[in-house]
Amino acid sequence: MTVRLYFDDPYLVEFEASVVRRETRGGRPALVLDRTAFYPESGGQPADRGEINGVKVLDVQEDGDDIWHSVETDIPGDAVRGQVDWPLRFDRMQQHTGQHVLSQAFIEVLKGETRSFHLGDEVSTLEIGLDRVDESALERVERAANAVVFEDREVKTYFVSGDKIGEVPLRRPPKKEGTLRIVEVAGFDYSACGGTHVRHAGEIGLIKITRWEKIRGNLRFDFLCGRRALADYARKNALTRQLGGLFSVGDKDVPQAAEKALADLKAQKKAARAMQEALAGYEAKAVIENAPGRVIRRMFTDKTPEDVKLLALKVIRQSERIVVFGAKASPQSHIILARSDDSPLDLRQFVPLIIAKTGGKGGGSSSLVEVVFSKMDNLLEIIRDITESIEKAMN
Ligand SMILES: [Zn+2]
Repeated sequence: MTVRLYFDDPYLVEFEASVVRRETRGGRPALVLDRTAFYPESGGQPADRGEINGVKVLDVQEDGDDIWHSVETDIPGDAVRGQVDWPLRFDRMQQHTGQHVLSQAFIEVLKGETRSFHLGDEVSTLEIGLDRVDESALERVERAANAVVFEDREVKTYFVSGDKIGEVPLRRPPKKEGTLRIVEVAGFDYSACGGTHVRHAGEIGLIKITRWEKIRGNLRFDFLCGRRALADYARKNALTRQLGGLFSVGDKDVPQAAEKALADLKAQKKAARAMQEALAGYEAKAVIENAPGRVIRRMFTDKTPEDVKLLALKVIRQSERIVVFGAKASPQSHIILARSDDSPLDLRQFVPLIIAKTGGKGGGSSSLVEVVFSKMDNLLEIIRDITESIEKAMN
């Protein structure tokens, strides 16, 4: 059996102990100590990190009453000195104690019971038995939780025997029988818990919910406490200042400025489209005037396939012609065939020929056909061949 030093003193980071058993676990040397300050993974809180005799501790797991420490390399000798990674431990004490307070605040404000808790490397999550929530209700939950922090309530831990447990107003019914370790946030929350907690609620620092989503008919909340909340606030403050700088407004006016910029962009796109249409009309006129024959063939290297198609449609609306247009573009080129309404020619009959020459894909209607294909060096030649086939079909 390993004595859990963190039960009495979660602030203890250095300790001396004796090795009582050795094994290989997951390919690594592992030790059971007679006593330890290392917290083993359980109850939603990950295992501590740190060193034993200067060797990295990779994992800490409980097995009945024993606590196993997986280490990077074998440690000779039976007397060891352990060192817990304190910044990491304190961060988890902040998140874990904050979770107790937040869970009870959810009950007091919304009667929302905690279904599960996970302490993550960056954010922690709390699954609450609620099917919906709004911003103002969440604000009340956060206010109730942070009031406990501002009051700096004491956080006490003590053991209560099984026959006396009924006298403790536990937030959740206990999962185990017999003597239980109780964590009490003075007069506010009573939980059966084996985790590591701060001594006073003030050490938790700010408790902040950052987002939530529906899951399994419950709501799952992301939350941050202490240093994590401060880091998140610093990041978001820098972000709003940066956005304010981009729009040349104060941070409160960023949403309005962004909405206006998006509306302006939409209006400008519409205006640009109208100009493109008008321009295509003039260009079509020039194309028609410069091509005396019935069939007009052209290859474009400086236009998008969409613009080439627009131009083709303008040409056949303004004159009784058939167009064979090629758009050399990246990543795919296009061949577009279009005819004016007076012609009975079904352009679909030329699709197999275009596909045979380009290896592309496409189709369309009797009056408009489009084939898309990867880069072809002899596109001009292909356009000429197709034009000849069309002229032959017309005679
Ligand atoms: Zn706890």
